[in-house]
Amino acid sequence: MNRPDSLDRLQSHAAPWDVLIIGGGATGVGCAVDAASRGYHVALIEQFDFGKGTSSRSTKLVHGGVRYLEQGNISLVMEALKERGILRENAPHLVSDLAFVVPNYEWWEAPFYGVGLRLYDVLAGKYGFGSSRNLNKEETLQRLPTLKVEGLRGGVVYYDGQFDDSRLLIHLAMTAVEQGATLVNYCPAISLLKNATGMVCGAVARDMESGSEFEVQARVVINATGCFSDGVRQMADPAAPRMIAPSQGVHLVFDSSFLRGESAIMVPHTSDGRVMFTIPWHGHALVGTTDTSIQEVSSEPAPFAQEIDFILETAGQYLAKPPRRADILSAWAGIRPLVKSGSGGATASLSRDHSIHIDTNGLLTIAGGKWTTYRHMAEDCIDQAAILAGLDDRECVTKHLRIHGYHHHAGKFGHLDVYGSDAIALQDMVRNHPERGRQLHDALPYLEAEVIWAARWEMARTVEDVLARRTRALLLNARAAIDMAPRVVELLAAELGRDNTWRAAQTTEFTKLAAGYLPG
Ligand SMILES: Cc1cc2nc3c(=O)[nH]c(=O)nc-3n(C[C@H](O)[C@H](O)[C@H](O)COP(=O)(O)OP(=O)(O)OC[C@H]3O[C@@H](n4cnc5c(N)ncnc54)[C@H](O)[C@@H]3O)c2cc1C
Repeated sequence: MNRPDSLDRLQSHAAPWDVLIIGGGATGVGCAVDAASRGYHVALIEQFDFGKGTSSRSTKLVHGGVRYLEQGNISLVMEALKERGILRENAPHLVSDLAFVVPNYEWWEAPFYGVGLRLYDVLAGKYGFGSSRNLNKEETLQRLPTLKVEGLRGGVVYYDGQFDDSRLLIHLAMTAVEQGATLVNYCPAISLLKNATGMVCGAVARDMESGSEFEVQARVVINATGCFSDGVRQMADPAAPRMIAPSQGVHLVFDSSFLRGESAIMVPHTSDGRVMFTIPWHGHALVGTTDTSIQEVSSEPAPFAQEIDFILETAGQYLAKPPRRADILSAWAGIRPLVKSGSGGATASLSRDHSIHIDTNGLLTIAGGKWTTYRHMAEDCIDQAAILAGLDDRECVTKHLRIHGYHHHAGKFGHLDVYGSDAIALQDMVRNHPERGRQLHDALPYLEAEVIWAARWEMARTVEDVLARRTRALLLNARAAIDMAPRVVELLAAELGRDNTWRAAQTTEFTKLAAGYLPG
């Protein structure tokens, strides 16, 4: 994960790469891990930072999706439950079990959700995380002491998985590099190359740090750009019809007084018929999400005021202390790259299955799906890409491939658990240089050592990379992140050899960006 070296490899590779992947989110990086571990020569370019798109803005659940069960999409639920189990096996340092309680306020809810959730257990089979069961009122309040008591009859508890999305992404990127792939961030594809027969055979990339542009030739190009997929397809064919129906989801973060204990709340039916979660995450309460179909996609989507109001109102129906706007520590949005069904219905009912689409010019696009199913999506995609490019037939090996940092008892590293086995090196760094053990802010556990680590080993290039995706400061507490920025700028500038102009620009840019995470 060294950017200058990776960029050099990308620019100096004489022969075409077997596979060029455009897009460094869960889908693209998952494809890079899959293809490289099969032994193919793989390059990946990301226009901003890895995970800048949707893959750092999820609800952080590794789940089968109780809602898809209700929609009758049994095959998607079974596939996701299986992938949930595989992911916990391969990345135990980043995926943990979480108990979810469905609170019951009506007489019919206990039998109705009890039966549905038992079916969820059955579908998980040997990949199950624990058995669901009905709870009486006292048991429900024991698990969720901050729940509204009035009218509460009991609850149903079931088990699913939770993770840290951008940390998993970074660890997948490191895994891809260890398998021989070359990944470069801040390197957009600005146009596609075609051969004499009009088939896509590479891309023109721009190094955003130097401004230089260069060609990257490949036997197959995979477009894994999420909600930006149509834009990349239109680089090859301006008339390509749109296949993505973007839909925005918003999360609000509060302090832990709104959700004490270790369990999450799952509301199966909000007033607009959606599912809403309140989950404990890194010592905070994360509430979301909405599903609003949008026309324009952006790399920094902003929550709509009505989405914030809706989440506050729904959370207020279940929590003894209803959260107010002033309690929001951070509010952020992500865009689901849903694939159009052709019916033009509401996005909440569009399938979360993934789609692989090959244009007549040979550009392969993979979109849709879920974080949870990224591995299966990648397997499917690389199977197709290998056929398309005429590569040697090689079996997928990711079912049993350990993800970088693999560690079974990472909990003993405290908040450094998300680094898995790398936490040992981080602890050594602090032991050898105690000043690097300084906390960056009272409200969050992050240390100066983590900034240095991110710059040296995780390809962090900006303050935002460190505060939004290597640590999760921006998503947990935007005001604290703004306070942390000047010190992070200093540490990064020293690591990356940046001048005063860069320092000033970084502080200004980050402060402006973080202000968007604080609803007025
Ligand atoms: C609100 C919300 C909550 C969710 N919660 C969950 C959950 O709890 N569990 C779950 O399993 N799934 C969840 N999902 C779904 C999951 O997050 C997405 O399916 C997944 O992150 C999509 O990954 P992606 O790689 O396809 O897209 P992205 O993460 O958006 O990655 C695409 C990347 O392509 C890059 N790119 C675009 N154009 C170019 C270019 N020209 N050159 C180079 N790079 C380019 C972008 O910068 C971006 O980084 C959620 C989604 C949303 C929106």
